[in-house]
Amino acid sequence: MGWIVCSGALGLKAQPIRLASDGAANYRIFTADSSRIASEASEELKKYLAQLSGAVFADSDGLTGRTIVVGTALTIKQHPAAIDIPLLTHDSYGLLKRGHTIYLLGGSERSIWYAVYDFLSRLGCRWIAPEFTFYEGKDKYVPVRPRLDYRYAGDIIEQPAFNYRKLYIEEGLSHNVENLLQLIRWMPQARFNVLVAPIDYQGHGRAQWDNWRQQLIPELKKRGIGIEVGGHGYQNFLHAGMEDGRLYTDHPEWFGMDQNGHRSADPHIVFCTSNAEAVAYLNHRIGEYLDAHPEIDIFDFWPPDNEKWCICERCEALGTVTERHALLVSETASYLKNRCPDVKLECLAYHHYTEPPQHTTLDNSVLLDFCPINQQFEYQIYEQESENNKRYNESLRRWMDSFGGDISIYSYYRKYAWRSLPNVIPHYMQRDLIYYRDIGIKGISVYSEPGDWFTFGLNHYVLGNLAWNPRIHVDSLIQGYCTTLYGEAADLVGDIYTELEDIVRFGCNIPFSAPKTMAAYEAYTARLLVCGEQLEAATANPDLDLITRRHLKRVALMVGYAKASARTKLLSTRGAVEEANRVAREMKQTINENKHAGVFIPR
Ligand SMILES: [Zn+2]
Repeated sequence: MGWIVCSGALGLKAQPIRLASDGAANYRIFTADSSRIASEASEELKKYLAQLSGAVFADSDGLTGRTIVVGTALTIKQHPAAIDIPLLTHDSYGLLKRGHTIYLLGGSERSIWYAVYDFLSRLGCRWIAPEFTFYEGKDKYVPVRPRLDYRYAGDIIEQPAFNYRKLYIEEGLSHNVENLLQLIRWMPQARFNVLVAPIDYQGHGRAQWDNWRQQLIPELKKRGIGIEVGGHGYQNFLHAGMEDGRLYTDHPEWFGMDQNGHRSADPHIVFCTSNAEAVAYLNHRIGEYLDAHPEIDIFDFWPPDNEKWCICERCEALGTVTERHALLVSETASYLKNRCPDVKLECLAYHHYTEPPQHTTLDNSVLLDFCPINQQFEYQIYEQESENNKRYNESLRRWMDSFGGDISIYSYYRKYAWRSLPNVIPHYMQRDLIYYRDIGIKGISVYSEPGDWFTFGLNHYVLGNLAWNPRIHVDSLIQGYCTTLYGEAADLVGDIYTELEDIVRFGCNIPFSAPKTMAAYEAYTARLLVCGEQLEAATANPDLDLITRRHLKRVALMVGYAKASARTKLLSTRGAVEEANRVAREMKQTINENKHAGVFIPR
């Protein structure tokens, strides 16, 4: 939830603790745990303290006196010199003071990082985005403080509202090892705790965990980030090409029956899930995959995308698709409990299987990701005015009533179908997340394409913060983001983000947004025109530094795209189809000329 506990009297006045002055450190660093994670987090602390103060913070061999202690609460509690340390677990962490000693403690090894970054953020540091090249160094802010003070106003104990805070690679249109490593370094700064990679997205061989794992695993492990792998594809573990191409000819009855009554090798047709031998074969293959990939914490077990289910008599006798889906997932979950007990199985509530089953109980150990893919962004997920949202919300409530395991939201707050349109929605996300937290949802996730991260950067930054504390003051986050990235133009861009949140999901080409009147589209276009003019005027300021100028040009591309989209809507509504097509063609060209540079990913 994110709360503050004062150790002394309420309203204790902040006491400045001088950590360093004039290039000399007053404190030493004691790393209490012997783990790799603790020592890496300590090194990170020392690195930033040096940048902040210009002082070298040396190691200490004990935890008394003017020492900053880094470690897990569990280890510290066993230390004879430690007094009155609260019990912390999982992702919770504490920033404490006992005597002159400052404690940065994690409830787990992973949350040692959170304690360190929170402490540094209270000294003025800010990390708004991964170090992607197009941020040009403005992804973070580290002030210079010759007199470095920590203003202590009581102990701080933090714990997250959502246990799962996930970033998906999913289609992986713009990921590579370099930007994935940048993303991973940012995750603990933003307190995202799981990276989700596809086994092999759509079988194309490009977005594939095996292509990256050797380089990513060490970096993920040393930050304690959970590794989730899988995705669409029962067919990864049972397809016609297996057993040297003999699987289909040897066992046609294992494959799904199509509309013509044929057993089909089409990967979009789900295998025959009522066939016990086929299920056993699939589970055995999954077990082999997990044995060969011991780094995996969560395994994603999804049907093929745009799938059709087997229509054989025995399958149909098992019940609806949602029943059959739950049966199969539960069978695989119980198989894996014996074979790989440390791996959590994850499945989706999506597409044909959004509704909870009525006759089958999904195993409680499974993590369920609920996918409101057709969410209408003109309305909150809980608003009755939207048919789509109403249906999702009702399904979600039924899942909450019928399923005892963890439910996480597979969000679309950065959506492929938006085609990089700048649907920037920080306040919208906050209202959804407060609702999700209040009904007991345990996690939230989002796609993470670097190729248009600049466009959705504010969404990503705010979502990471909301996943920790949905009641956080969003306007302060926006201000922090804009100040870091846009310097003296921060207020202008902050206002433009507000306009984008008010316009794009209503007046641009966002799926499921209702058609508007010509007058409404004219008004949206006019407002976006003003945004563009303001940006142009700000960019023309000769005193503006070059990096800020380039960032304003990136914002101008975003605004220009939104304007072209609203204008296309206006022209189509007016019946001027040819002109609408011309505007769309020109925009497509602009997108191609500026592709994969943070703003646009062409589709
Ligand atoms: Zn069947």
